[in-house]
Amino acid sequence: VDKKVKVAIIGAGTAGLSAYKEVTKFTKEVVLIDQGPLGSTCARVGCMPSKTLIHIANQFHNAQSFSKNGISGADQLQVDISKVLKRVRKLRDEFTADVIKKNHSLGDSFICQSAEFLEPQVLQVGQQKIRADKIIIATGSSSIVPKDWPTQNPKILSSETIFEQKTLSNQIAVIGGGIIGLELGQALSRLGISISLYHAHPFIGGVTDPLVNKVALRLLEKEFPIHLNKRVSVESSGHCLTVRAASKIEKTDQIFAAIGRQPNLKGLGLEKLGIPMGDSGLPKFDPASMRIKKFPIYIAGDANKERPLLHEAADEGRIAGLNTSDEGQDACFQRRVPIRILFSQPNLFGVGKNFNEMSEKDFQIGEVDFSKQGRAKIMDQNKGILRIYASKKTGKLLGAEGITPGGEHLAHILALAIQKKMTASQLLQMPFYHPVLEEGMRTALRDLNKKVDKKSNAFELAMCESSAIENLS
Ligand SMILES: Cc1cc2nc3c(=O)[nH]c(=O)nc-3n(C[C@H](O)[C@H](O)[C@H](O)COP(=O)(O)OP(=O)(O)OC[C@H]3O[C@@H](n4cnc5c(N)ncnc54)[C@H](O)[C@@H]3O)c2cc1C
Repeated sequence: VDKKVKVAIIGAGTAGLSAYKEVTKFTKEVVLIDQGPLGSTCARVGCMPSKTLIHIANQFHNAQSFSKNGISGADQLQVDISKVLKRVRKLRDEFTADVIKKNHSLGDSFICQSAEFLEPQVLQVGQQKIRADKIIIATGSSSIVPKDWPTQNPKILSSETIFEQKTLSNQIAVIGGGIIGLELGQALSRLGISISLYHAHPFIGGVTDPLVNKVALRLLEKEFPIHLNKRVSVESSGHCLTVRAASKIEKTDQIFAAIGRQPNLKGLGLEKLGIPMGDSGLPKFDPASMRIKKFPIYIAGDANKERPLLHEAADEGRIAGLNTSDEGQDACFQRRVPIRILFSQPNLFGVGKNFNEMSEKDFQIGEVDFSKQGRAKIMDQNKGILRIYASKKTGKLLGAEGITPGGEHLAHILALAIQKKMTASQLLQMPFYHPVLEEGMRTALRDLNKKVDKKSNAFELAMCESSAIENLS
C-alpha cells in the first residue's frame, strides 16, 4: 500500500464534493478521486446546459404571441442553432469552471485518476494502492445507449454529446419520453427542429396520474408527435438512421437517446468484494445512512440510482460524509419530500406521493384547470391542470401532480406544506396575493377542502384566542 487515509471518495461531482466538505470537518486524511471529465454531470452535461437551451427555445417560441399583443416584427426572428449551442457551451463553461476550480484547490487530496476496488478497504488508483478506513462511491451515472443500436454512429446523440455539436440536423427522433427526452425534445422543437418522440410506456415524464398524463400529452402533442408504447430499434442506413417502432418505420437524420441513465459502477471491481446486490443488479444499501450493509463502503448520488437528482445527490453525499466520521453507529436521516420538476412549458411536476401510491378509498383530489386562471391568461400561458391529494379523514396533504405554468414554484410550496404535515385548510391560511398563479393552486385546495372530512372554516383565517377589542386601552 502506497498511501493510507481515513476516507477515500470516488467521484468529484455533486455527491462527492458534498461528502468531501463533510469529511474535512473531522479529518484531513482524505482523498477525492476523479478520472474526469471534471465539472460534475449537472454543470457539464445535465441540469445547467439543458436549462440554458430550454430558456433560449422558450424565448424564441414565446415571441410567436407578440403580434396578438400588438408587438410586430417577431415573424422576422430567426434561430441560428450553431450560435445557440455556442451560447449554451459558454454558460456551461462558466458553471463547470467553478467546480473544476474547487477540485484543483484541494491540492494533494485531489487525485485525477480512475479508482478500482482491490479489497473493501483498498483501491488501485492509477499506479498507487490506497488503503482507506471508509470509502464513498459517488461515481454518478451516464446515458444508456442500447448495445444493439449502431452505438458508434456519431448521429446518435445523448446528453453527453448533444451540447458539443457544432450544429444539429433539421430532423431528430427523440427516443424516450422521460424527463430528459421531453425537456430537450420540446426545446429542440421550439428551436424549429422537426422532432418525433418515441416512448415505451403509456405515461410520460414520470407522471402517474392518468388525468395529468392525458392533459400533458394533449398539450405537448400540439408541438410534436409523441408515439407511446413503442419499443424502438435503430439501424444505420446510408446517410440516415432508421427507427423501427412496431409497424412504424421512420428515417431520421439524428437521434437523441434519452432512454435512461445507468450508474457508473462498471470497472469499479465491486464484484470482487462479495457485496450483496439487489434485483436491479445494484449494491443493496440503506438510503437513510447510505451505507452498503456490513461493508465500510457508502454509495451516494446517481451511483445508487435511488433519487437521481441534484439536491438528493448533495444530501446523500453529506450523509455519507458524516457517517464516515467515527466507528459508532451510522446516523440515519429522514429524506426530504420527493419533488420532480420537468422544465417543459408548462412545467410538469410531482411532489410527495404519486397518484399510484394512493390507496383508493382513503384519499380525495382537489383539482384546478389552468385554462381559466387569470394570471396565466395575462401571461398567455393558460394551460394545464393541477391535482392535489389529501387524506380524506384528516385533510393532511399527501402529494400532487400537475402540468401548469409556474409549476416549479407551486411544486415547492406544496412540498413544504407536505413536509410540514399541513392540511389543505392550513395551507389555505397562507396569504395569496392577486393576481398570481398561486391563486390557481388555491382553487384546487378549496376544491380539496370541501371533499375531506376535516374542513377549515369558510373564512380561511385562523381564529383569534380573544377579541382584539378587549386588549385596547
Ligand atoms: C440532461 C440532464 C438534465 C438534468 N436536469 C436536472 C435538473 O433539472 N434537476 C436535477 O435535480 N437534476 C437534473 N439532472 C440530474 C443531475 O445532474 C444528477 O442527479 C447529479 O448531477 C448527480 O450528481 P453525482 O454527484 O451523483 O454524479 P456526477 O456529478 O456525475 O459525479 C460523478 C463523478 O464521478 C467520476 N467517476 C465516475 N467513475 C469513476 C471512477 N471509476 N473513478 C473515478 N472517478 C469516477 C465522474 O468523472 C464524475 O465526475 C439532470 C441530468 C441530465 C443528464
